[in-house]
Amino acid sequence: MALPKTLDVTAIETKPAGVHVQAPSRLARWTDGTRIILKLLSILLPHSFHLLNLRLTAARHDRTYKAVPSPKNIVVIGGSFAGVKAAGWLANAVPTGYRVVLIEKNSHFNYWFAFPRYSVIKGYEEGAFIPYEDILAGPIKKGSLLRVQAEAADVTDKQVVLANGEAMEYEYLVIATGSSQPPPAKMKSLDREGAAGELRANQGRIAAAKRIAVIGSGAVGVEVASDIKGYFPDKAVTLFSSRDVVMPSFAPKLRTHVASRLEHLGVDLRYHARPRALEGGKAVQFPDGTTEEFDLVVSYRLSQWAHLIFAQLPCTGQSPNSGLIGSFLPEAISKQTGRILVKPNFQLKLADHAYQNIFALGDVAEHGGPRMARAVYVQAGIVRDNLLQMIKGGSPSKEYKPEIWMEGAIQLTVGKVCSAPRRGEVRELADSDRMNRSHTCLVRMARICCFLVLGGQMTLRLSMGGGW
Ligand SMILES: Cc1cc2nc3c(=O)[nH]c(=O)nc-3n(C[C@H](O)[C@H](O)[C@H](O)COP(=O)(O)OP(=O)(O)OC[C@H]3O[C@@H](n4cnc5c(N)ncnc54)[C@H](O)[C@@H]3O)c2cc1C
Repeated sequence: MALPKTLDVTAIETKPAGVHVQAPSRLARWTDGTRIILKLLSILLPHSFHLLNLRLTAARHDRTYKAVPSPKNIVVIGGSFAGVKAAGWLANAVPTGYRVVLIEKNSHFNYWFAFPRYSVIKGYEEGAFIPYEDILAGPIKKGSLLRVQAEAADVTDKQVVLANGEAMEYEYLVIATGSSQPPPAKMKSLDREGAAGELRANQGRIAAAKRIAVIGSGAVGVEVASDIKGYFPDKAVTLFSSRDVVMPSFAPKLRTHVASRLEHLGVDLRYHARPRALEGGKAVQFPDGTTEEFDLVVSYRLSQWAHLIFAQLPCTGQSPNSGLIGSFLPEAISKQTGRILVKPNFQLKLADHAYQNIFALGDVAEHGGPRMARAVYVQAGIVRDNLLQMIKGGSPSKEYKPEIWMEGAIQLTVGKVCSAPRRGEVRELADSDRMNRSHTCLVRMARICCFLVLGGQMTLRLSMGGGW
C-alpha cells in the first residue's frame, strides 16, 4: 500500500507491522498546537458572541412576540440540518405578524451520520430517527413556528403547493431540500418504523455474509468497512479504493492514519481498484473483465458524500433536490451541478435580481462551501440574519465565506474500538457499545476529529471524548 515513509501524526502504538511512524519534534507539535488554538479562537469567539446574541434575541422575543390570526409566512422547505437550524433561529426572532412554517416530509429528523453504523449493528436503529419535538425544543414562542409533515410539490411566486394539493402562501421562502441518495445512505421510508426496518434489513444481509466487499473508500465506505470488521472480526472485509489512498478528499495525515487503522483491524485494502458490483450483489467485475466473488457487495460510489448502496439496489447517484426551483425558475439552477445558484448572502442568483425573497442553503445550494453539517449551521445563521434585515426594511448584507478547516471537520468512526493519537499516545475506547444507546452515539463516542484540506500544513490533532 502507498503509505509515505514517515507519518506526521504522533506515534501510533498499534501501528501495523511495516509502517514506520516518526513522531514530530516537540517544537513542531507546539507550533502546530498554537496555530490550531489561535485559528480556533478566531472562529469560536465570534461564534460564541453570535450564540449569545441568539439567546438574548430569543429571550426578548419570548416577551414581545404575539401570535396573530393571519400571520405572514416564512416558509422553510426541508427539515434536516439546514432547515431545522434556519427555522428554529428565525422562529425565535421573527416580529409579531410573521411566523415560520417548516415543511418536511419525514416524520422524524433523520440522523444520517448514524446510518452507516446502524446498517451494521443491531438494536439502536430507532434512535437514528429523532422526534421533531425534541429537535425543535427550546424557547420557541407558541405561534411563531408551525411544523407541517408534508412533501412540497410545487413553488410559485407566492405559494408553496403541497403534494396533497393544499397551498401555503409565503412572504419569504427558504429552500433547504438537500440531496437525495439511495438507501442505506438515506432511507426510503418517511416514518421511523419503516426506516428502522430498512436498517434492520441491511444488518441482516451483513450478518448472513462471510466475505463482504465495500466499493468506495470515502468516509462512509470507511465507516461501514471498519464497523463490519470491528463488530464481526471473523468476516473477511475488502475495501476497494479507486485511488492510491482512502478518503481522498481529506488531509493526507488523516488518510494515513485511517489506512493504518483499517489495516490494523484486518480490512483488506485494495488500491487503484475500480470494480463495479454485478447484479445480485454477490460479485464484482473489474475494468479488465475479471470478476471476484463475495457473499455481499456494498457499493459506495464516491461523490461528495455517501452514495452507499447495497448492490441489488439501483445505482442512481447523489442528486440535489432542486426540482422545486428548477421547474419554477430554471435559470436559477447550475447546469454543471444541478444545484440552486445563490449569491453569497444566499438569495437566489438571477440575472434580473428577481425573487429576492427566496433563499437557498445547505446541500441543495451552490455556495462554494463544504457539503457538511457545520457549514450548513453557519449558512443558517446568515440566512436568518439577512431575512430578518429584510423584514426590517434593511438590506441582506451578511455574506458567506467558507472556513473550510472548521466547516469541513468530520466526526469519523473507524471500527468499534476507535483510537486516536493524543499527546503521543493511543487511547482505546473499549466500551463504545454502551455509548451507542444514545441517539447521539456518534457524537458522544470516541471519534476522530479531523480537518478537511489542511493541505498537510498542520500536524493533525485528533481528539476523543468530551463535548463536540
Ligand atoms: C450517511 C451520511 C453520513 C454523513 N456524515 C457526516 C458527518 O459525519 N459530518 C458532516 O458534517 N456531514 C456528514 N454528512 C453530510 C451531511 O449530512 C449533509 O451535509 C447535511 O445533511 C446537509 O443538510 P441539508 O439540510 O442541506 O440537506 P439534507 O440533510 O439532505 O436534508 C434535506 C431535507 O429536506 C427534505 N426534503 C427534500 N425535499 C423535500 C420536499 N419536496 N418536501 C419536503 N421535504 C423535503 C428531506 O426529507 C430532508 O430531510 C453525512 C451524510 C450522509 C448521507
